[in-house]
Amino acid sequence: MRKVHDIDHVTPGILLSVIEEFDAGKNTYVDEGDVRASVIGGSAIDYSDRILNVKQKNPPMIPKIGDVVVGYIDMLFGNMISVRILYINEKLTKSGFSAIASTRISYSGGNYNSNWRERNYRGKYVFKVGDIIRGRVYSLLNSSIHLTLDEKDLGVVYTMCFSCGNEFTKVPGGLKCNFCGNFEDRKVSIDYGKESFTLLYDKQFLKL
Ligand SMILES: [Zn+2]
Repeated sequence: MRKVHDIDHVTPGILLSVIEEFDAGKNTYVDEGDVRASVIGGSAIDYSDRILNVKQKNPPMIPKIGDVVVGYIDMLFGNMISVRILYINEKLTKSGFSAIASTRISYSGGNYNSNWRERNYRGKYVFKVGDIIRGRVYSLLNSSIHLTLDEKDLGVVYTMCFSCGNEFTKVPGGLKCNFCGNFEDRKVSIDYGKESFTLLYDKQFLKL
């Protein structure tokens, strides 16, 4: 049988040992002489009294409705974008959740930037893979995390020029490259280019 102390990731119901070898301790149960885990965690044995415990691990942080998330766009499909979540309410997460957002402009949004809306006659936001965006969770329907981008502090928070790789400056209606003059039509957050986002971008894509 598997050596109990080697198991550092156990799931509920997994066989850890038998009662002849170890007594069932914390977060375990006995089923027909088998000692099994009752929670997600890692096993730990107290050899002094031969008790097998499972140390419970915190479940991954799951975004809730109203949470603000920051992530990068990893896919575009139809009128939707897929966003790999890196931060939930400013806390780094390694859970690897993806969220989706519509690129269609909602006309029902509250804090909507009306100047921007008037300029954008296509009724659609433009995004590119690699953009770092901030969104707010508004629905968890069908086990998907749905984001809205229709607020002043939501939208693209950082990206780099797709022509030359240099820094963009926020300009009316989008972003303009300081170096080559390339203009990109974007729904840009009011605090675009804050230092923390440039650090995030460097960490994500340049592996610094
Ligand atoms: Zn450029």
